[in-house]
Amino acid sequence: MTELTRAFVAVEISEGARRQIADLLGRLGREPGVPVRWVRPELMHLTLAFLGEVSGDFLESAKVRLADVTPQHRVLTMQLRGLGAFPSPARARVVWVGTEQGKDEVCALQAGVVKALRSAGYQPERRPFSPHLTIGRLREPGDVSRAVAVQFESEPFTVDSVVLFRSVLGPGGPAYSRLAELPLRKGQG
Ligand code: ATP
Ligand code: MG
Repeated sequence: MTELTRAFVAVEISEGARRQIADLLGRLGREPGVPVRWVRPELMHLTLAFLGEVSGDFLESAKVRLADVTPQHRVLTMQLRGLGAFPSPARARVVWVGTEQGKDEVCALQAGVVKALRSAGYQPERRPFSPHLTIGRLREPGDVSRAVAVQFESEPFTVDSVVLFRSVLGPGGPAYSRLAELPLRKGQG
């Protein structure tokens, strides 16, 4: 029998940004309207690649490939700004916070991560990567136009690693644990 692990690759946000998003959720919670299931701030992350249910062999190979690619990308500064929704604010399924500073760098990092994972057998998504931090989900499409009009800007923070996470889905929501943390290259040059 092959044990499968639900896994994804992400970058983490700072504790300061987490607190700022928790405050934002407090403000949004007072907006009347559609039922959004807000993500617990301690679980928030910016997904680079969702791997799905994968084997232990795949994970071992993915770790090695990720460790090869992350030193090719420099530590970056990220700032989160603005809200949005997929597929649109009028018929939202996902509510997110966008990236301001660090967007180009995180896109380059995501492309590198995907390329590395492909060499381990990963089948990437077809749609282009759009960096975002999911903060809420809706079971049925709903209009979140009012909510996404709220102003938000996080502190700038440093992203110095890429994390391979395991996800265990449960009745109380998902639980994430770190399988590997792969550092980005420090300093100049
Ligand atoms: P739940 O599924 O219980 O709402 P979750 O979505 O946070 O919890 P997972 O489904 O394990 O947990 O997903 C882990 C991460 O991967 C999340 O950031 C999620 O948004 C992202 N993700 C999940 N499925 C996909 C997908 N098909 N394409 C892109 N990203 C995905
Ligand atoms: Mg999910």
